Amino acid sequence: MLVYLVHRSFQDKVSAWHQGRLSVVVRLPYCNLRCNYCDVMFLVDPDRSKLSEFTPEELVSLLDRDFAPYDFVTITGGEPLLQADDVKALTQLLVDRSKRVVIETNGSFDLIDEIHNDAVSWVFNYKLSGSGENAVMTNAWFPKLTNNDFVQFSIAVDSDFDEALDVIAEIRTVNPEFENFVVSPAFDPQQESLMMQWLTSRVLEANESGIILNLEIHKLIRRYNDGSEH
Ligand code: SF4
Repeated sequence: MLVYLVHRSFQDKVSAWHQGRLSVVVRLPYCNLRCNYCDVMFLVDPDRSKLSEFTPEELVSLLDRDFAPYDFVTITGGEPLLQADDVKALTQLLVDRSKRVVIETNGSFDLIDEIHNDAVSWVFNYKLSGSGENAVMTNAWFPKLTNNDFVQFSIAVDSDFDEALDVIAEIRTVNPEFENFVVSPAFDPQQESLMMQWLTSRVLEANESGIILNLEIHKLIRRYNDGSEH
């Protein structure tokens, strides 16, 4: 599998194991989407010379050698499910070692049933119209979500919040028990303070106990570290 970077960092998005938890982050290159607020274009369209190739077994050996002790692994991108077979094999190897895994994906692929279990928290970053990529979202995973999983909506324009409420209603129709919906500003909250105020009011108005207001933690770390994330 092609890998852009493996590093120790903090769990960025809300997952079953919270934000800010130390995790070994496996960043995989390439993405099938081009969201207009994407802040990881270096992963979406990477310089091939910066990528490393491993088998899933080699990657787990590297984690065991360079990052032990570790309990949590975050597989992110880009879009990890472009390498679905390798992600499946890697996750299974990690779960067999009693690790807990977060898989962050963009909502355009179904989840992998064989690695959808209590040791794996799937985080779907569902793309609304403000991203420019809503047309390729799939609802195949809506009925499969458990409360170990999360659906995150990055809000880029006002109408995205209303659209998110519609998607939440659609998910509730097929999966009434699911209640982990996350809304975040799509942009750096420092640059978008007005949007943050607006989003806060919309969440209060919506009065939906299933909605979690959230800031992606890497944006805050970047803000307080003079632009550098780690
Ligand atoms: S899905 Fe994520 S990585 Fe891909 S273009 Fe959109 S924001 Fe960037």
